[in-house]
Amino acid sequence: MDRAAARSWISQCGYPGWLALVDEVYDRLPPGLQIRQAYQKWAELRFDVDVDDAAFEAFLVEIADRSATICGVCGGAGRRQTVEGWDETICDPCSARAETRIDGPPDPDEDARRGR
Ligand SMILES: [Zn+2]
Repeated sequence: MDRAAARSWISQCGYPGWLALVDEVYDRLPPGLQIRQAYQKWAELRFDVDVDDAAFEAFLVEIADRSATICGVCGGAGRRQTVEGWDETICDPCSARAETRIDGPPDPDEDARRGR
C-alpha cells in the first residue's frame, strides 16, 4: 500500500484528520519496508508492515498513541468517545454531528438537508 492509497483509504474510512500522521509514517518508512494496511482500530490509527523492524514498530506505537489524542475528522484535539457504539477519537463538535460521519467525514450538504 503506497502513501496515496493509504491516504485515500483513511479518508474514505472517515479519518481525514489523521492524514498528517499517515504522511509522517510514510516520511519515516525505512527502505525496503512496505506498509501492508493502514486502518483505524480501537480509536487509534494502526499500520501493518511486511517486515519486522523494532524501531519502526515502536514509532508506529507512538503514532497510534498520538492518534488517540487527535480528532479523526478535523485533526483538532480529540479524545476517545463512544459514538453510536463505536470507539472513536473525536472532538466534541465533530461528535455532535457523528451521525453524518460513521461512513465518512461530515458532509456540509447533510446539514443543509437537515435544515441546520
Ligand atoms: Zn473534530
